[in-house]
Formats: sequence, structure tokens, C-alpha cells
Amino acid sequence: MSSLEEGCSDSASAHVLSKPLLQGLKLASHAVLEKVQERGRSKCAKCGGSRMFFCYTCCLLVDVSLQEIPIVKLPLKIDIIKHPNETDGKSTAVHAKILAPNDITIYTYPCIPEYDQDKVVLVFPGPSAVTVQDMMQCLRERTDSRSRGPRLKRRKIENTAQDLGSGPPDETDSESRANPLQRVVFIDSTWNQTNKISTDERLQDLLQVELKTRKTCFWRSQRGKPDTYLATIEAIYYFLKDFHEQCLAQEYSGEYDNLLFFYSYLHTVVNKSKEAKQDYKAKVNSI
Ligand SMILES: [Zn+2]
Repeated sequence: MSSLEEGCSDSASAHVLSKPLLQGLKLASHAVLEKVQERGRSKCAKCGGSRMFFCYTCCLLVDVSLQEIPIVKLPLKIDIIKHPNETDGKSTAVHAKILAPNDITIYTYPCIPEYDQDKVVLVFPGPSAVTVQDMMQCLRERTDSRSRGPRLKRRKIENTAQDLGSGPPDETDSESRANPLQRVVFIDSTWNQTNKISTDERLQDLLQVELKTRKTCFWRSQRGKPDTYLATIEAIYYFLKDFHEQCLAQEYSGEYDNLLFFYSYLHTVVNKSKEAKQDYKAKVNSI
């Protein structure tokens, strides 16, 4: 078993399911990762742990420089709330933080910020969850219904002010109404631990958003869970793709594909190793 593969549980279907997600991505060259893999693991400069590519504990690159990896710019801020019991090495949240350092923040539960429910949504499935397509409208309706009284009063005052010729309408207000979403929260945890976080009262009032049914290609599939339970990096990627197409109404041309830079590489390595094992078994059986 290669050092990359340690602790990976097998998912027989992963190879087939991976194709729709990982094919045709616009990715930076993996040459740097191939070179590092040939050299083997190195020590993390901060904690001294033996790591390959990055340290999942310190969220730092190991044996790779920042200039050698793609940095992805996101259209909004993303917070990832991690369960403290989640094994760092199995989490894909750190991929997101390393590849989009300016837009992603990781919090360890129960340490989470207070959120403004008019500007923040939680990506989590459930009976009250809405689709990405309906998200903006729902966010606006929620805000309107909550602040109907004060908002009407404010409009009256604005109108009076305009009647008196004392300035243009409030542009910031109309801009934030057209695009109220500022931050998206994801939960990074095994599905058994996720419920505890999602029912935390600080997240209770956030609009919940559900992704379209998509299948995971994570090689560490969670036992007993359907393959529609996505790895965190997959969920972030799909959310952004949908947001780009449905909320920003722009054609998607690979803007966020590099969020899968490490994920796709590791996936290829694990699959190659599985294929090699299968070939070996077939050879042994044929003797
Ligand atoms: Zn470290």
C-alpha cells in the first residue's frame, strides 16, 4: 500500500462514479505533485509531522511552494465548520483552504461566529432546504418578511428625502438586495456527527440550501451511507458551479475547477493503485 493510500477504505463503485466529476476539468499541471510523490513524504515545518503535499493539521504546504499550485478566487466567502473529532487526514476541507486561502475560513466546532441570517446560508440537506436556484429569492423573501415594518418606514423616509431633492436612492441597498448572499457555511464532519453541528442554535436560523443529487467519487466512502453524500470539497465545488450558472447567470468555464487540484490527483493515484492490485490478483489467479 502506498503512503498516500494509508487508511483509505475501498469503494468498488468509486472508479466508475468519478468519471462525470473528474473528467474534462480545467486543472493546473499535476507535475509538481508527481515530483513530490517520487521524493516521498517530508516534515511539516510547523508541527514536524510526516506529510505529503500539505499538512492537514497546520493547513500548510509541505515540499511545495505557493507559486507551484493554483490559487482560486471565489465569488463569495466560505466558512467550513469542522467537527473536533473529525480526523484531519481524512478531511478534504484543508484542500479548499489551501487552494482558496483568501476566501475560505475553517472553524473548529463549537467555535463558530455569529451569522447574519439575511446574508448567510448553510449548505445542508433537510426538509426545509431549498435549491441553489431558489436560494436568492428565498433569502430576499425572508429578509423582506422579517423587516417589512421597518423597511416600509425607511422607504417612506427615502421617498420624502428624494421629493425634497436631497440625494439619489440608496444604491447599496438595491445592490445588496439583488445579491444579498455574502457567505456560505459548510459542515465538514462525518455524517453521524453532522447533526449535532447543524442543529446548533447559532445555525438554526440560517436558510438551508441543498445541492442537486450528485454522486460522490470520494475514495473514502462512508460505510453504510449512500453515494450521494459528498466530500466537503465536492460539495463546495458543486455549490460554486451552480451559483455561477444559476445565481450569477454566467456560463461556467472552469473557474473553480482547480479547487479539485489535490482531490483529482489523489483520486487518480488511489485508482491506479487499485487497478494495479486487481491486475496482480488476476495474474495470481491465472497461474
Ligand atoms: Zn503541520
